[in-house]
Parts: sequence; structure tokens; C-alpha cells
Amino acid sequence: MTFDPRTVGLMIVLLTFISAVMLALVQRQARSIQGVGCWALAELLVGIGLFLTLMQVFISPWLSFVLGNTLLLTGLGLTWYGIKIYKNEAPPTKLIAGIVVFTALMGWWFGVMNPQPAIRIAILSLLYALLAGLAASSLLVKVAQPLRTAYWITGGAFGVYALAMLARGLVIGVIEQGMAAFEPTPINMLTFVVGASTQLVTTFGLILMITYRMSMNMERLASIDALTGALNRRSLEQGATSLAAQGTGRSIGVIMLDIDHFKLVNDHYGHPAGDYVLQEVTTLARAQLRDRDLFARMGGEEFCVVLAEGDEDRAARIAERIREVCSHEAMNFNGVAIHVRLSAGVAAGRVSGGALEDLIGEADLALYNAKQTGRDKVVRWSEIAAHSRPTPAQRIAVPEALSRIA
Ligand code: GH3
Ligand code: MG
Ligand code: MG
Repeated sequence: MTFDPRTVGLMIVLLTFISAVMLALVQRQARSIQGVGCWALAELLVGIGLFLTLMQVFISPWLSFVLGNTLLLTGLGLTWYGIKIYKNEAPPTKLIAGIVVFTALMGWWFGVMNPQPAIRIAILSLLYALLAGLAASSLLVKVAQPLRTAYWITGGAFGVYALAMLARGLVIGVIEQGMAAFEPTPINMLTFVVGASTQLVTTFGLILMITYRMSMNMERLASIDALTGALNRRSLEQGATSLAAQGTGRSIGVIMLDIDHFKLVNDHYGHPAGDYVLQEVTTLARAQLRDRDLFARMGGEEFCVVLAEGDEDRAARIAERIREVCSHEAMNFNGVAIHVRLSAGVAAGRVSGGALEDLIGEADLALYNAKQTGRDKVVRWSEIAAHSRPTPAQRIAVPEALSRIA
């Protein structure tokens, strides 16, 4: 079997064009995800650049060594740039621009003015190794789940490619000086075969990264309340279950909050004003909580807080703080002052086996009591427990309270 690097090179050109089309199509479905357009354009540039380089015997050295090499490096730089903006990190624009300009000058000097194939190929390979290595490190270092698998596949492929290019640069530059770019030497075979395979794997990995990100975005959308950005019932339940599972034996607090006479806000000031009040209450309440605490909108103007730790005293203190900050000053909606009052019910206790339902039911009964006894106050479950011990009616009320968060 004879190995012809140029044929393999043309196969890689074809693969990059297919990748460019695939990524461009995926981008149409994933407009909200940063970086995908860069990756599609990058593949196109690499394809054109590699094609011009492969055609070096047939076309002017300007086209092949200056334009071709520069497009190749620009494409790889753009891939790294896309990875950075995909990850919401500052894009390394200056470094990439510097490498691109250096490549153009280097291609002009060692390709047109003073042809030195070995030096040119060695430098080019090392620049490739550098950019692919940087792309790999952006994907392999400090990556959290759930994107890790997709990052590792893509980053691993870039890493292997960087190593192959490093080997190529060193072998051609140091050992086999004077060798042409497309002779069937072992190092050329290695780099072209690795190039073709990693081309496939990186495209697959990038598309995997896009689909993972899309499904994460969908999951986030499905877990938050669109108006306030608070958790919704479903995600509160999930979060509370995992909190309870982690903290078996530890006391957890629950606060049920309900805005007093909220219907009047809508009636007097209009529905948008009511929406604004819901958002403000969310912001003010969240500011009183820690990162691990959960804050959810249960529906309408009712909210539930699950405190990751603490007894009933602590839960009552936090509920009181939330009540105070929300009612302390009028909320200003387009110049109109809206006074808001809140009632809250509080319960706390050790949870075992992940069951928070009882606490939520108790806090709900305490809230009901706050409403019955004048509103604008915080009632603790322990204050009313004695006369609220499961009467037949409450035996029904608790499951009803629970069914509302199901
Ligand atoms: P109470 O003190 O007993 O809690 O009385 P209330 O008026 O706060 O409670 P009620 O359950 O009678 O009314 C709740 C109102 O909340 C009725 C509904 O129109 C309003 N509401 C529910 N969801 C939204 C929303 O997303 N935006 C706005 N602006 N209003 C909402
Ligand atoms: Mg209300
Ligand atoms: Mg209500």
C-alpha cells in the first residue's frame, strides 16, 4: 500500500468543508450559543487554507505559502476564539492576531523571498501545535460537569493533534531538514492520519458541546419561573430532596410567604404593577438568603423558602427580615408608590430520608394562621402546633398543601 500525504490532505479538505456545513446548519438551531459561527467559519478557512497549501506545486507561492498558511492558522485561531466565547471567557484576540500576522510574514519570507521548506514547515507545525494546545487546555483544565465529557472529547482530540504537530515540527526542523511537506515519510504519515482523525473527532466534540449546552439551557428554562427567575415548584422539590438527602439529621427550615391582599395591587395599579411587585419581592427576599438556600414561586403571589440549615428561630428571623425589607419602603413602579405587606409561616426540623413534605405542610398551616389572625406577620409552627395537632380537617389540609407543590 502506498501512502500519499497529498491524497489524505485532500480528504481532510473534504472533511473540513463537510464540518463547516454541519456546524453552520447546527448554528441555525443554536443561535443563542456563542462561538458556533466561529467554528463553522474556522472549518471553512482551514479547508481553503489546506487546499491552497496542497496545491503548492501548481500555484504561486504567494497563494500557497502566504495566503494558504495564513488561512490555516487563522482557522485554528478562530476555533480557539470560539471555544473561549462559548465558555464566556475573554477571547484572546491579540495573541491570535499576532500569530496570524507572524504566519503571513513567515510564509512570505520562507516561502516567497527565501524559500526554506523545512524551516517553514517546522515553524508552521509548531504554531499549529501551540494553537491546538491552547484550545486543548481551554477544554481540559478546570471543567465542571455536566459538560465535562463533551469538553474532554474535543480537548483530547486537540491535544493529540497538538502533540502530533509538535513532533512534526521537531522532526522536520531538527532531524530531517530539507524534506518536502508531502513526502510519504513516517512523520508525514503520522501527522496526516492524526489530522484526518482529529478533524472528525473535534467536529463531533464541538457538536456534542453545542447539544449539551442546548439541553442545559432548556433544563434551566424548565426549572425557573419566567416572571421572577425564582425556582418553580418542580425544581424546588428536586432541590429540597437533594438538600434533605445531604443533610440527614440536620435541621432544615421552611418559610411559606404570601403577599397580603395582592389582588388589590392588581386592581388598583394594574397587572404590570403586580408583576413588578412579584419581581421586587423575589429580589428582596433572595438578598436575605445564602447560596444553598432555595427560593421558589409556588404560584400566584405565594413563595416558599427552604433554608439549607437552621432551627425554627433562625427561620423565623429570616422570615421576619424578608417581611420587613419588603414592607419597609414603598415599591416604586413608574413613579407610583406601592405599599406591600407579607405574611409568613415558618417550620423547621430534622428531616430524614429526604422527606420535607411535613415541614412544608406545617409552614403552610402557620401561614394560614397568620392570614387568619391579622396578616403582616410571621407565625411559627411551634406557636400553633398545640392547637393545630392534626384535627381531621388538618389531616386533609396538610396533604392539600403538599399537593400544591407536587
Ligand atoms: P391574601 O391576603 O388572603 O393572600 O389575599 P390576596 O389578594 O393576596 O390573595 P388572592 O388569592 O385573593 O389573590 C391573589 C391574586 O394574585 C389574584 C391573581 O390575579 C394575582 N396573581 C396571580 N398570579 C399573578 C401574576 O403572575 N401577576 C400578577 N400581576 N398577578 C397575579
Ligand atoms: Mg396573598
Ligand atoms: Mg395566595
